[in-house]
Order: sequence, then structure tokens, then C-alpha cells
Amino acid sequence: MTVWLDELDAGELAIRFEGEEPQALLEWALEEFGYRIAISTAFQVDGSVVLDMAFAIDPDVRVFTIDTGRLPEESLDFADTLRERYPGINLEVVQPDPEHVRRMVEAKGRDLFRESVENRLLCCQVRKVQPLLRQLDGLEAWITGLRRDQWATRTNIRKVEIDHDHGAIVKLNPLAEWTARDVWTYLKENDVPIHPLYARGFTSIGCAPCTRAVEPGEDERAGRWWWESNAPKECGMHCSIEHGGFEHELKAILGK
Ligand code: SF4
Repeated sequence: MTVWLDELDAGELAIRFEGEEPQALLEWALEEFGYRIAISTAFQVDGSVVLDMAFAIDPDVRVFTIDTGRLPEESLDFADTLRERYPGINLEVVQPDPEHVRRMVEAKGRDLFRESVENRLLCCQVRKVQPLLRQLDGLEAWITGLRRDQWATRTNIRKVEIDHDHGAIVKLNPLAEWTARDVWTYLKENDVPIHPLYARGFTSIGCAPCTRAVEPGEDERAGRWWWESNAPKECGMHCSIEHGGFEHELKAILGK
């Protein structure tokens, strides 16, 4: 059965599930969308909470992560930790198009992201956003671990949205209302595996060259692209970034 939702439906569902536990939304979504929905995780604690909840509801739930080719070794190891903790988990590792990566590196260098915000956004497009687009192309809905308190760009997210940046499929953010404290309480109470870099001061998990540990008191996403100023701490996966300057390069790399 195909579940077509429009803005009105999504708005009504967002209101219905606001104030409800995340599991209520997950139960509804897994029942409604079945194999046409998947969880996206970058192995951050929020994604692990969603995964833990969803796996308890349906062990066949689809999960995917994007291996950009620049992930820290710890993230690759953590995928194995999840496979051990959740036997039979349907965890798919999605990779960027090697030809696109080759063209970008040839044109701009492997560490192009250090040179300008445009280059950083270009790299994120090639290594993260394009693989995500390919993955979402076969889905009717996806589930994230986004929370409103993570960053200014996320304060208005709803639990149920129509994702106009990704083919107008449904995007679910079951933890939208939660705080970091809620997340850590759940992890502890449910013995959920935690990515090892959190123990080394990281509060966000991303590519190795673009993510560092934060100092006490710094924002949760302060360790992402810390050398940039006046740039969004987003890669384009969760919101469209209108920065300009990289789109023509991207077209050349994609060959269209
Ligand atoms: Fe490239 Fe850094 Fe973005 Fe990873 S986070 S895709 S290395 S710019």
C-alpha cells in the first residue's frame, strides 16, 4: 500500500504525535510504511536511540548510514558493534559514487574543504548529499534523530514533515522534542551502544577531518567545521543550503 501524505496530513500527524513518546510515532510509521521507510544514522547518540527503539518494535527495520570515505576508523568499527548488539540488523552502508569523488579530488584536492565554505559544501554534496538522494529515491519516508535543541537551524523541525528537499517524501523526527539529557538517560537505561568518540569529548560524530572534540560549555555542534565563520553547521542533508558558489562545480562533477 502506498501512503501518500500531503502538507495537511503531515501537519495533522505532527500535532497528533507532539507530546507523545517517540515510540508512538515509530510504531505508527513502521506499520504504515513497512519496507518503504528507513532510519538514517551517522552513529550519533540520537540515531542510536531511534535505532534501539525501532529495532524493539520491528527487528527488520531498515537502517542506513553513509560512509563518506572520510569517516574515522571508530565509526566503521561502531557499525560492527551495532551488528553485534542487534543481531540480524538490516544496516546498509551507502557510499558516494567513486567517479564523482575522483573528479572532485582531481579538480580540488582531497582536503578541499579547508580552503573555503564553498569547497566544504561541495565535498559534503558529493560525499554525503548525493548518496543520500540516491538512497531516498527508493523510499517513501525516512527517520532521523534530529532534535530541536541541537542547533538554530533545527528549532522549528516537526515530528512529521514533508521533505521537499528530497522528493517530497515523508521525514520523521521522533526525537524532535527531546533534549540531550533525555537522550543520555535513555542510552543509560537501555544499555544502548555509544560511539567511542563521545568518551573523548566529541558531542557530534562526522568525518574525521571535519569533526573535533568540544570544550566544556561549547555548543553541541561546535566541533563541526570549527574553522569556518558565518557558515551553517549543516552539510545539506537535513536542510537545503543556499550559499551559492558550489553548484556549478557540482554540476561539472556530476556530469549533468
Ligand atoms: Fe567532506 Fe568534511 Fe563534509 Fe565529510 S564533513 S563530506 S570530509 S567536507
